[in-house]
Amino acid sequence: MDLKDLRVNGRRLRESLEEMARIGGTPGGGVQRLTLSDEDRRARDLFVAWLREMDLEITIDQMGNIFGRRPGLNNDLAPVMSGSHIDSQPKGGRFDGILGVMGALEVMRTLHENRVQTERPFVIVDWTNEEGSRFAPAMVGSGVWAGALDLDWVYARTDVRGSKLGQELERIGYKGQVPARKRPVQAYYEYHIEQGPILEREGRTIGAPKGILCLHWYDIFVEGTANQVGPTPMEGRNDALCAAAEMILAVNRLPARMGGNLVATVGEIHNFPNSRNIIPDKVHFTVDIRSWDDDLALRAWEEVEKEFQGLAAARGCPLRAEVTWRVEHSPFDERLVERVLRQAERLGYSSRRMVSGAGHDASYMNQVCPTAMIFVPSIGGRSHVEVERTTWEDCEAGANVLLHCLLESLQEK
Ligand SMILES: [Zn+2]
Repeated sequence: MDLKDLRVNGRRLRESLEEMARIGGTPGGGVQRLTLSDEDRRARDLFVAWLREMDLEITIDQMGNIFGRRPGLNNDLAPVMSGSHIDSQPKGGRFDGILGVMGALEVMRTLHENRVQTERPFVIVDWTNEEGSRFAPAMVGSGVWAGALDLDWVYARTDVRGSKLGQELERIGYKGQVPARKRPVQAYYEYHIEQGPILEREGRTIGAPKGILCLHWYDIFVEGTANQVGPTPMEGRNDALCAAAEMILAVNRLPARMGGNLVATVGEIHNFPNSRNIIPDKVHFTVDIRSWDDDLALRAWEEVEKEFQGLAAARGCPLRAEVTWRVEHSPFDERLVERVLRQAERLGYSSRRMVSGAGHDASYMNQVCPTAMIFVPSIGGRSHVEVERTTWEDCEAGANVLLHCLLESLQEK
C-alpha cells in the first residue's frame, strides 16, 4: 500500500471521543474533567490502557505528563511528537484538548494496524493541567518540560480549596519518577479545535495558525472598608467592589485605547464578604491580556495599572497587583505550517492561514522544537462551554492531515 493513500478510521476516532466524553460528562452535553480530579484520573487510566494495547513504551514524568512511544527504524534519531490535553474547563466541552490526544491516538492506531514502519520514533503525549482553571497558571505540564517553569513552584500552586497541585498529582497516582525535562524532538504537531468562528464562517475545514498570541495573566487584590450598608452614608465609603468595577471597565476599554491587535479580559472575580448588606472590603479579580505584539501587551499593562492606581486612590481602596504568568507570542515553524496547508490541499480539504488567540501547549513546545498546529472548525465558534461541537467529518479530516504531516516528519532521516 502506498502510504499516501493511508487514512485514519473516522468511526473509531468518533467512538474514542464519545467514550472519553462519558468521563465527567455533564447533563448539558459537555464535560467537566478538571485537572488532577478523579475524572482526570479515570480518563488517564483509559488513555494508558489504550496505549498498552499497542505495546507502546509508556512513561509518566514528575509532572504527570503521559508519553507513549512507538519505536522507529532508527531509534537514535529524535522522535516526532503529537498530543494535547485530557483536562477540561469547568462545564467545558467534549473536544477541547481531547481531540488532539485522540487524534494522535488514532494516527498511532492507523500506523499500528497497517504495520507502517517509520524512520523515527513517534511519541504521543497528554500534557498535565493545560487549562489552568483549577490551578493557575495554564500549560504547566509542557511549561516545566520545556524548562520555562520551575517544578517546585508548579507543585506548590493551590486550588480554591487549598489543595496543592503536587499533592493532587500524587493522590491520583500520576506523580511519576522520570524527570520532566525536555529532550530533542524533531517536530511537534498539535491538533485542536479552532475555538473561534473564522473557519465555520468561511466554510473551510482546516486552519493552519502561524502561531499563538502572547499571554499575560495578572491577579488584582483591592482592599476597602466593610460596614453596615444602611447606616453608613454614601460619602466617605471605601467600597472595594465599586473600585473593582471601574477597573474592570478600564480593562475593557484598553484595546481601543492602545490600538493594534490586542484583547483584554477580566474573567474571574471574587467579592468579600459577598453579602447584600455589607460594603465589600475585599475584591480579587484577574486580568488577561493577549497580543501578537509582546511589547504592546506590556505597555497596555503599564497603562492600565497606572489607571488602577488613580481609581484606587479616588475610592480610598488600595490595591496589590501580581504578575501571575507571562508567555511570549509564539511564531510557529514556517516549514511545518506550509506542510499543514499542503497536506490539507492534497487531501482535498479547504484551508487557510490564521493565528491562535487561545493558548496551547504548542506555545511551550515551540521553544523546544519546530512546531505547528492543525485547527478544525468549532460550530458557532463556541468553546469552553458545554455546547462546544465539531462535526465528526471535520474531526476525521483534521486527523488525516495530522497523519500525513506526522508521516512526513517521521520519515525524515
Ligand atoms: Zn485546549
